[in-house]
Amino acid sequence: MLAITNATIVMTDHYIYDGTVLVDDGKIVDFGRKVKIPDGAEILDVNGAYVGPGLIDIHTHADGETFFNDDAEKAADTLLHHGVTDVLPALYYNMNKEQYLTAIAYLKDVMASGKAKNIIGFYMEGPYLNPKFGCNRENNPWKGPVDAANYKDIVDAAGDLAKVWCLAPERENIEEFVRYAKSVNPNAVFAVAHSEASPEEIEKIIPYGLKIATHHTNATGTLNKYPECRSACVDECALYNDSIYTELICDKVGIHVDPYMLRLIRKIKGDDKIVLIADSFVEHGPIPDGDLYEGATDINFDFMGEIAGSKMILDGPCQNIIKHTGASVCQAFKFASTNPAKVLGLGDRGRIAVGNVANLIVVDHLFNVKYTVFGGEIVK
Ligand SMILES: [Zn+2]
Repeated sequence: MLAITNATIVMTDHYIYDGTVLVDDGKIVDFGRKVKIPDGAEILDVNGAYVGPGLIDIHTHADGETFFNDDAEKAADTLLHHGVTDVLPALYYNMNKEQYLTAIAYLKDVMASGKAKNIIGFYMEGPYLNPKFGCNRENNPWKGPVDAANYKDIVDAAGDLAKVWCLAPERENIEEFVRYAKSVNPNAVFAVAHSEASPEEIEKIIPYGLKIATHHTNATGTLNKYPECRSACVDECALYNDSIYTELICDKVGIHVDPYMLRLIRKIKGDDKIVLIADSFVEHGPIPDGDLYEGATDINFDFMGEIAGSKMILDGPCQNIIKHTGASVCQAFKFASTNPAKVLGLGDRGRIAVGNVANLIVVDHLFNVKYTVFGGEIVK
């Protein structure tokens, strides 16, 4: 039994000061100001620091330097030490069919070994995106037709571990793919990604479970019908539809999403529909010359000098959204734990509640992670 004492407990819309969170057998068994601490319980006195639910990253390929599909154990452990207690490793469309199958088989093995327990499934960033968008697009093996002979094996192999399927709704026959993915995993969530679909094309997929706009404002088109007149495309559709969650890569300088845009998106979407992601990738290209990207040390560049995701772990975006938008610690937990749990349908995590999994983190007012409690055990 573990008692986290002297805690500022972070609820979804308020704090409980001078609180205690009591954990037993991997679950939260009690919390609040008047918790009786049983004799013999281990005490973690956090000196007034914030105690909130563990972070949930639904979309990241790496831990800042190593891809999950190269060393999942290492990447998962690094994330855990930054407070990420649930993660969906993302598999990118630059993999061909064989590479997808190899990566899926490898990640399933690691999960079965019990050595990377914070991996809870996969984020399938592909295969059918718009070849015009995204880093590494010159190596896209999925430019041909949406064809069951190619996708069926991948969908079958990923099974119900494919929690999210990204797609570009404008791809011909995409509904056939969506129906098949849904038949294999009825709980799969779909995401509009790397796309310049019209709102109509996107809204057609919403009834199947399209709930996410992947890295909102990144790798999306503009589709201007008349010169110098803005038409509606992916970003506008994501803002318009209340049911869509917007993923945000919130980096230190505010390059992936301009700080003004972040504030605008918060205003339009509201705090219940924002999902922070790290989207860490590994290319190791240098920061391009000049001052354009000055200070962008947490961004990953490819060797063409283009942005290719980040080098962050999810505590970074939490720190940054506080800085760029004036969000509170409470709201940062909402963006990086409560909302991601909701979009994936995970009822037993993402907030502090009796009976929930004891995935908890302790942070200071700038969102520096002091401790991670994972399944009731202190791991950091
Ligand atoms: Zn992407």
